[in-house]
Amino acid sequence: MSIETDQKNQAEVSATATQVKKRVFSGIQPTGNIHLGNYLGAIRNWVGAQDQYDNIFCIVDLHAITLPINAKELHQNTRKLAALYLACGLDTRYCNLFVQSHVHEHAEMSWIMNCYTPMGWLNRMTQFKTKADENPESVNTGLYCYPVLMACDILLYQTHYVPVGDDQRQHVEITRDIAQRFNSLYKKRVFTLPEAQIRDTGARIMSLENPSKKMSKSDPNPASRINLLDEPKVIKQKIARATTDSLRLVAFDPERPGITNLLTIYQMLTGQPEQEIEAEFAGKGYGDFKAALTDRLVATLEPIQRRYNEYINDMVSLEGILKQGADRVRPQATATLNRVKEVIGLG
Ligand code: ATP
Ligand code: MG
Repeated sequence: MSIETDQKNQAEVSATATQVKKRVFSGIQPTGNIHLGNYLGAIRNWVGAQDQYDNIFCIVDLHAITLPINAKELHQNTRKLAALYLACGLDTRYCNLFVQSHVHEHAEMSWIMNCYTPMGWLNRMTQFKTKADENPESVNTGLYCYPVLMACDILLYQTHYVPVGDDQRQHVEITRDIAQRFNSLYKKRVFTLPEAQIRDTGARIMSLENPSKKMSKSDPNPASRINLLDEPKVIKQKIARATTDSLRLVAFDPERPGITNLLTIYQMLTGQPEQEIEAEFAGKGYGDFKAALTDRLVATLEPIQRRYNEYINDMVSLEGILKQGADRVRPQATATLNRVKEVIGLG
């Protein structure tokens, strides 16, 4: 059977055939404190476009165990991340929010797709190299196969778009490669080929301490990131200490990544064009700019923190939202997995 003549099977497995809206899938690991990079590179974009798409947003706890993590912390981080998703504006009228391990199809499909992914492809993954270098004592097979699990997260839902930060570009590319290879091996369109959605601005917010590295939850230095739940005085301290340079010129300049990163954050929070920001701070020093940036950050995060406290203090409702999300997405995951097994000859 050719790919073209397999449209009928595709329609059966994929709800996308009847969808009016295109499907979006993305996720965040409950590995630590959610920071400004996660917000500006991912969550804020999800919120802004949520009414245009059929959205699935996952808390990827199976990914979180690829590096050592305390059990209690993992459980709590998962709930905290759900509360933050909601506090940032994700709306269950438009989005299904769920926890990856609540839908066991992710793990099952991941084993199967491991057997269809050449090791050579995984050897090229830069995130594995970075994380393995940073955690030499804890490199396990799960960390190596992380991109396959991520591919399965996306492919199970016949996803069209994957809105992520720039660091995840390579993982969406390998997802397409895995899907394409499987479809052509069996000459059936089992998987929709997803596309990464990566914005021009804010897709890689850099560490405040070392602007050659991206801001990360797993960075051992808390001063490297602004967490969404940081108090105003902590934000003030971190911005005051953020690395800049000795030129003391408030201007976007790729040669000066520290000040450029702070300006990018300011630009994303104010929506102002670069020239307007540079004009605003012409003749002023880094102190004035950092004070203005701190004020903007506090004003942006204060309402998120207020809503977060409401959600996290109503655990019954939060658990209910996560259960409902898993119940809603599971039928699509089951359908795709069953189709994959049938095509392979399993069962
Ligand atoms: P970890 O250090 O545990 O990998 P992380 O900060 O990289 O944590 P992830 O859970 O891996 O966060 O990624 C969640 C989402 O946030 C992804 O879409 C990722 O591309 C995006 N993201 C992560 N860091 C940044 C950043 N510094 N700038 C922009 N987007 C980011
Ligand atoms: Mg990451």
